[in-house]
This record gives sequence, C-alpha cells and structure tokens, in this order.
Amino acid sequence: MPVLFIGHGSPLNALSDNAFTQCLRTLGAELPRPVAVVCISAHWLTPGATLVDAQARPRTIHDFGGFPQALHDMQYPAPGRPELAQSLSQRLSAVPVHSDARWGFDHGCWSVLTHLYPNADIPVLQLSIDYDKPAEFHWDLGAQLRFLRDQGVLIVGSGNVVHNLRATARMAPEAARATAPWAQDFDDAVAHALEARDDRALVRYESLSSSSQMAVPTPDHYWPFLYALGAAHQGERAQTVYASFQSGTLSMRCVRFG
Ligand code: ZN
Repeated sequence: MPVLFIGHGSPLNALSDNAFTQCLRTLGAELPRPVAVVCISAHWLTPGATLVDAQARPRTIHDFGGFPQALHDMQYPAPGRPELAQSLSQRLSAVPVHSDARWGFDHGCWSVLTHLYPNADIPVLQLSIDYDKPAEFHWDLGAQLRFLRDQGVLIVGSGNVVHNLRATARMAPEAARATAPWAQDFDDAVAHALEARDDRALVRYESLSSSSQMAVPTPDHYWPFLYALGAAHQGERAQTVYASFQSGTLSMRCVRFG
C-alpha cells in the first residue's frame, strides 16, 4: 500500500471544490482500496504520550472557530477499527502506545478523508503526536508503522510542510495572494531533499534552509510529514501529487510514496 502526506491547509477545503480537493478525489479513486486508514494529524498533539483512537464509532470533531455553519455541520461517519488499534499497541511495544476512547476525527483527518474517501466506508483510526518528542522520534515511529502497508493499511500524514498562520494574519489581503519568498524557499528545499530522499536533512529541518524558522515556527504541521517519510521504504521514490500555496504561507504540497 502506498503512503501519503497531505498538506491540508484551511478547514474550508472540506467544503471546497478546487484544484487541491479535485486532486485528492482523483488520488482516492486511483489508490488500491485500503482495508483501513491510519491517520497522523497535526491537530492531535498529546505531550508525554502516543495515543491511538480505539473507538468503534469515532465522532467528528469540529476543532476550529469562525467558519460557516455548513462546516460545523459536516460529519465524517467512517467507522473505527478497535482491533487494529489494539494490535498497533502490541506491535509498537518499543514505544508505549495507549488506547484512547475520547478523541475521534479532528479536521486534519476528516477534511482530507472527506475527499479521498467521500463514502466514509473505510475504517479510520488516528494516532496522536507526542509533542514532547524530537523530530527523530516521529520519523522513527513512522518507520515502525511500515508493516501496516503489507496489511493493506493506508498511512496518511496530514499537516503542512510550511505553516505560519501568524505571518498569514500579518499579510495584507492582496499580499496573501502571492507566496511569501521564505515560504517558497523552504518548500523548494523540502522538494529537493525529497527528490534525493535525504531523510536526514528533512528530519533536521531547522538547518534545511535559512527560512526554516519562518516556515516551521512550531513543528506541529511538519511532524505528520516525518511519519509519512519514515513509513516510506528506504530509497522509495517520493511523488509530489500536488504543490501550491494557500494564503501565501501554507504549502499544500502532497506527497505519495509507492
Ligand atoms: Zn492544520
């Protein structure tokens, strides 16, 4: 099974019909049908522990404010897969992975899956990000998830390789239509390192380019990318299936391995 990293951008993409969401719909139709999806979203950060959602019927979480009612009304009623969550905890014994019965699907997960699998008929479970751990930990945990691919499970990292909402807010509306030079610079550096599969450089993203600090002011949206990268086999080609910017500072780069 391939591995995906999806740049999710604004929650509004869930409702949108644009080049990005059309790309996701095409991608979902092209991929071999997975038995389940394991999603690592930038919006489930659990400092001090890694959790896996083990609910049979996960709820749809509307973890945002100030958006149209239609977005708050959206549901993604895919089932969970408690037995897969349990086997994941057992298999990843080197890292304690605790079962969770409260989370569900945050918008990093469902705003993407609603386009990849609009029928919501494939079981989905989320794995949280231990926000206390360094970048290497996340790449390594991604590598430990590789076995899932042989079982027909699709691993999806959902974040953004460039994500600076403060800078977005400071930009004048007309400037936000153009891509910030530092954002483009870092996104290009990611693209080059990806092409060479220089995972080491991507894990050490702080020194990837002079724009690293602006592009990744906090690592929450970058780390899902490291999970996907880790889950890819060594030397497996990274195929960029979509690349553009939203609001001038959000890289929507989406990558497929395998
Ligand atoms: Zn996000």
